[in-house]
Amino acid sequence: MQSKKLVALFAAPLLVGALLPAPLAAKAAPQVYAKGMVSAADPRASEAGAAMLRMGGSATDAAIAVMLTLTLVEPGSSGIGGGGLFVEAGPDGKVSTIDGRETAPGAANDQWFVRDGKVMSYPDAVPGGTSVGVPGNIALAARAHRLHGRLPWAKLFGPAIKLARDGFQITPRFFSMLKNSSGSGAFISEGKALFYGADGQPLPIGTTVKNPALAATFQAVARGGARAFYSGANARGIVARVTTAPRNPEPMTLADVAGYRAKDRAPVCGTYRLYRICGMGPPSSGGTTVLATLKQLERFDLTALGKDNPVAWHLIAESMRLAYADRAKYSADADFVPVPVAGMIDPGYLAQRSALIDPGKTMASVSAGTPPGAEHLAIAEQQPGEERGTSHFSAIDRRGHAVSYTSTIESAFGSGLVVGGYYLNNELTDFDMNPVFDGKPANNRVQGGKRPRSSMSPSLVWSPDGKLRLAVGAAGGATIPAQVIRAIIGVIDWKLPAQDALGLPVVFAPGVDTVFVEKGSWLEGFTPQLQALGHTSIVPRVLPLKANAIEVVNGKPVGAADPRSEGQAISE
Ligand code: GLU
Repeated sequence: MQSKKLVALFAAPLLVGALLPAPLAAKAAPQVYAKGMVSAADPRASEAGAAMLRMGGSATDAAIAVMLTLTLVEPGSSGIGGGGLFVEAGPDGKVSTIDGRETAPGAANDQWFVRDGKVMSYPDAVPGGTSVGVPGNIALAARAHRLHGRLPWAKLFGPAIKLARDGFQITPRFFSMLKNSSGSGAFISEGKALFYGADGQPLPIGTTVKNPALAATFQAVARGGARAFYSGANARGIVARVTTAPRNPEPMTLADVAGYRAKDRAPVCGTYRLYRICGMGPPSSGGTTVLATLKQLERFDLTALGKDNPVAWHLIAESMRLAYADRAKYSADADFVPVPVAGMIDPGYLAQRSALIDPGKTMASVSAGTPPGAEHLAIAEQQPGEERGTSHFSAIDRRGHAVSYTSTIESAFGSGLVVGGYYLNNELTDFDMNPVFDGKPANNRVQGGKRPRSSMSPSLVWSPDGKLRLAVGAAGGATIPAQVIRAIIGVIDWKLPAQDALGLPVVFAPGVDTVFVEKGSWLEGFTPQLQALGHTSIVPRVLPLKANAIEVVNGKPVGAADPRSEGQAISE
């Protein structure tokens, strides 16, 4: 492990970076609204959040109620058995971020996913105990509530408890997730009993399902606070499930669970065309990947090019290739390894990187750069296939507070293990399972107590006049930064309503030369033009896209939800 001194050296510039846009914020007159707004991937969750706003709750209260309700109604995607990343800002533009990322047990080490000298495959690693990190969402919620909550803690659980007792209906999207997961090893025991019939088939669309075990868990945490989750029967349940999992049982102790802490982090902030953007720093790669991609594009006039011009999409793909190369090499938990965050978003460094982009042809090859502060770091391997299993939600309250919160259990149904009516995550597969790259320790290798690299990119965007413009984020593994970048370019450069910006197709260029274009979208039709620009590997792919946003238009919050999803925004 790197010395603490070295880590501190790298951590300091991050704070400086966070303070940079302050003059913009200082100019802003405090913003208030006639009504708040919530946008989430499931209308029942949005409604739970809006109910908090109607009772006078804060954006944070609303976001926590959404997170809890999604545990019930979208259980394959996120919940209290997983973790999340939280970004909050007040009307004065002051930003706080909380890291509720899952954490590796103390016994974990860089051989965690190695069996008989071979690195496990992703599908082998997901089911059971090896992939489970200590869940972070309840600790995050408790910390966020302490900082920004207005309603009593127990009130936030009201809608989720009622729905868990009365029942909720299986939607078409949930049904298809159940169908696609029924054959996989990632779907074990209690989950089957909840959502499958005696014939082994998923319960039909429209079936009402009750989850009394989850209602009881919610009730206990509503009464007892986070302590009721991280100790006592619930903690024993987690440890028993992980250590006696039918596949991949692994050591996790009650001390691992009790020791979990949500961490206040310095936000990662920068500007794009005078708009201030803030997001999550390590262990997420989200903030740096979004800011770097956008900053490298600043010298190109995307507005003049327009969304219907293949060159615009070529430029976005090229910029993304550069930013994702840096992500793969450097992004990890900065409490364990040095991550040159300030260098990765340094305007001078990004101007050099941007100079590599040619509007007339593709870069023959792309590799990570050497941002200031990164001269001596190990090379981390590009992480293999992340799957969906995440939800993003945004909330804005009357008093002008805004929240962007992304919550995850990593892949569909997480590890497949169920405790107290909720799924345990498989977040530890977000580590580089291969601990060595190019003969050197990977930055994102497994270490005891470490948090795996995330792609989650909950973001807030302010207009040049200092007023909040957008609260946005997405689910979809490594495509998350690409979706957020697309949304921000859609709103800022192409002047689209946020709803239309979320409907834009996605280009995803995470690697050396492959450029994924959203299959079935009009972007696929640009393939010949992109090939003519030199892209040899254009791959149409159904991408796991699911974004949610709230924009502020003429002083009014307006919700947006990905048209590919069942998401919906609901006003206070
Ligand atoms: N676990 C992923 C991350 O934190 C997100 C997975 C998903 O969106 O499906 O980056």
